[in-house]
Parts: sequence; structure tokens; C-alpha cells
Amino acid sequence: MRILVTGGAGFIGSHLVERLLQEGYAVTVLDDLSGGRLENLGAVRDHPRLRILIGDVTDPVTLRRALEGVERVFHLAAVVGVPRVLADPLRTIRVNVRGTEMVLEACAERDLPVCLASSSEVYGKGIRWPAAEEDDLRLGSPTVARWAYAASKLLDEHLALAWARQGLRVSVVRYFNVYGPRADPDGYGYVIARFMDQALRGEPLTVYGDGRQARSFIYVEDAVEGTLRAGFLPKAFGWIFNIGRAEEISIRELAEKVRAITGRSVPVRFVPFSEAYGPGFEETPRRVPEVSRARALLGFEARVTLDEGLRRTWEWWRVCRRG
Ligand code: NAD
Repeated sequence: MRILVTGGAGFIGSHLVERLLQEGYAVTVLDDLSGGRLENLGAVRDHPRLRILIGDVTDPVTLRRALEGVERVFHLAAVVGVPRVLADPLRTIRVNVRGTEMVLEACAERDLPVCLASSSEVYGKGIRWPAAEEDDLRLGSPTVARWAYAASKLLDEHLALAWARQGLRVSVVRYFNVYGPRADPDGYGYVIARFMDQALRGEPLTVYGDGRQARSFIYVEDAVEGTLRAGFLPKAFGWIFNIGRAEEISIRELAEKVRAITGRSVPVRFVPFSEAYGPGFEETPRRVPEVSRARALLGFEARVTLDEGLRRTWEWWRVCRRG
């Protein structure tokens, strides 16, 4: 079976591609390399079952070519990461909404099952934590550009559920801060990637705000497992799943953990959000998933502890990003 992974040269996508190849599938990657890198696929680039197409998912001809011979789709291509969203909210909305709409329409035409990557950002500032998939959402005003990403992903989810009502086999995964080797310091799970880069260079770890904001982090291998189950299990179709770990940690504590695990005695530097992202930036104090639906329907539970995941990530950082 050939599987299309859009955004397959990105952080999560490249791990998903490796896993699919290991499982014996043929894989087509469609990626425009705006956020991802071919080096992310370095270990499998010459694999005989891998086809890489460099192009824009919103281009109909490119998308049609990417779908040739494909029987299942994982749609991960998106503009990701606060710095990129703030730099170009228009492109964020265009790629994240039009790209998804086109992928869903193409899958519906060909009767292909599809799994969409969404984000815990859709919970916005949150109403209650841990947040469950059916909870109400609380996004900020459209005058604050960061919410463009959340709004785009939310519209993707609406499109997916609307298509599910038309009979499309579609599932949605809402990732909660995925981290691990190859994470992009400018991307979504940027805080761990940034700390790793800074520790490697012997620079202070920059914590935005007072660092009391809490997050939960999921190691990429676990996120890929959850994604595969959501993409393959027929009972997943028509559902949205939180893919995360129930344990939360403040960014301050995370910085301490990174210092301990990397053994680098770098200081921690607190930077106001306004300095990092400009005036009016809105941050959410907590973000932690309710994971019972993924456990019940997918039999999925994240297994890698934060300590273990940080150790593995640092190991990769030390070897592959040194210098
Ligand atoms: P990433 O930036 O590494 O991957 C996204 C990929 O999409 C990149 O390789 C990029 O080049 C590609 N892309 C962007 N625009 C494209 C276009 N027009 N055509 C083709 N390819 C295009 O980010 P990631 O962290 O691997 O995220 C993967 C997916 O998971 C995204 O949909 C993202 O919104 C979602 N997500 C990630 C996280 C996280 O913690 N990493 C959290 C929530 C949601």
C-alpha cells in the first residue's frame, strides 16, 4: 500500500515516514520545504519505497501527482510555529485552510481515508484543563495574529467533520507539544528545541514571561504511534483525538530539567513576551490534554517519560547538531 504524507520532510512527518517505511509501506512525501528539510529524511532518502515530491499542497496539479497510486493519506503540511505565523498570517491561513480543503476534496473524490494533523492551539486560552475534545474553546481576538493558526486548524477540523458526514473516512489528531530529534527551534515544539540549541552553545536558556506557564510534552515516537492508530483504525474515523501526555510541567521547571539532563550549567534568562513576540502577544497559562478518548478508542497511551524523551533528544542534539 502506498501512503501520502504531506509535510513529510517536517519534524513529525519525517518520523512518521520512517515508521511507515519500517512497517513495509510505500510512501510518497509532498513537501515544499518551507519549514521542513530534506535532511530530516536523510536516513531513508534513498529508500526504494520512498518517493519525494517537492511542491505546494495548494497547487492542484502537484497534489494530483502526489496522489498517484496512493491508498491512504496523512495530511501534516502546514505553516507551523509562532514566529512563522506572526511573520505571515495570510500564508498561514491560505496553506492551512486551502491546503486541507483541497486534500479533503481529493480524498473524497478518490474515497481515500485521511488523517489530519490539528493542534492543541484550538483550545486557545482554554476553559478548563485538562481539556477534552468536546469542550468549548476560547480563542483570542482576530486582532491578535497568533490566533490565525488556531482558527485555521479549527476550520480544518470543521471541514473534516463535515466531510465525515458525507461518508469520508477522516480522523483528526490534536497534538500537544511534540518534541524530539529534528524538532525545529522555530517550529511548534520550539521551546525544547530552543533550550537544546542554547545548551549546546553554552548560552542562557531563554524562558518567556515568568516561566510559570505549564505545558505537557509528548515524545515524537509516541505522537507517531497515536497518529498511526488514528489513521488506520476504522473506529477512529469521524473522531478528533487529543494526542498528548497528561503530565504537565512549568517552563521554568522544564529549563531546570534541561540543565540537569544536558549537564550544562547555563543560566536561565527571563524574557518578556512583548520582547520576544512584540506588544499584545497573548499566552495561555496552562495546556494539558484529557487523554481518555485516545485510550478508549485507539488503545493509545504515551509511553516515553519526559526525562527519557529529553535524554534521547539531547543525545541526538549532541551528535547531529554539534557545531
Ligand atoms: P513542520 O513545520 O516541521 O512540518 C510541516 C511541514 O509542512 C514542513 O515540512 C513544511 O515544509 C511543510 N509545508 C508547509 N507548507 C506547505 C505547503 N504549502 N505545501 C507542502 N508542504 C508544506 O511542523 P511539525 O511540527 O512537524 O508539524 C506537523 C503537523 O503537526 C502540522 O500540521 C502542525 O500544525 C501539527 N502540529 C504540530 C505540533 C508540534 O508540537 N510539533 C503541535 C500541534 C500541531
